[in-house]
Amino acid sequence: MKKFKDVIGFHGHACPGLALGYRVALCALSKLGDRAADEEIVAIVENNSCAVDAIQVVTGCTFGKGNLIFRDYGKQVYTFLRRPSQSRKAKTIHGIRISVKWKPHEETSREKTMWDRYMKGDRSDEVLETVHQRKSKKIKAILNARDEELFMVKKERVPLPKEAEILPSITCERCGEKVMESKAKVRAGKFVCMPCFNKKK
Ligand SMILES: [Zn+2]
Ligand SMILES: [Zn+2]
Repeated sequence: MKKFKDVIGFHGHACPGLALGYRVALCALSKLGDRAADEEIVAIVENNSCAVDAIQVVTGCTFGKGNLIFRDYGKQVYTFLRRPSQSRKAKTIHGIRISVKWKPHEETSREKTMWDRYMKGDRSDEVLETVHQRKSKKIKAILNARDEELFMVKKERVPLPKEAEILPSITCERCGEKVMESKAKVRAGKFVCMPCFNKKK
């Protein structure tokens, strides 16, 4: 099982969003079983925040494998499902929907003041120290909270997403770059890539 430090190693810094994503991922695996070496688990994420990096590292649902589906809703909601082992003709499948409900503790007046100063561009030592401590406190609180304090979890039937396809590439007749056949368009009788198709001239 991946540790929080593995997640920081991938993401580049520790932050509350990453900690939440880490907890979401652990919760998902506790219900669905082992991490996805291949495409056996699919994650549908409804935001593109720091949290999603933790989800990729821990669950093995990654952008590159195509088992991470991004819906740009700006919601802290994550749905996970495990693909059936045999290719049954199921159109829908039971997934786990995890919705983050966690709220940070009330801030002290010093924290509020320092945060205001930080937002106005103050980078003095006293401001940075308080801001840093405030962040560490949040991360710690998230890592130590119980699942029930962090999320609402429910089972839900979701449409079974298509598996990633590997299709042949062709060469765009305008820019000369390779493009996956299924993404090519026809413009003035030529096979072109999408950016070339959309160009004004
Ligand atoms: Zn971050
Ligand atoms: Zn092109």
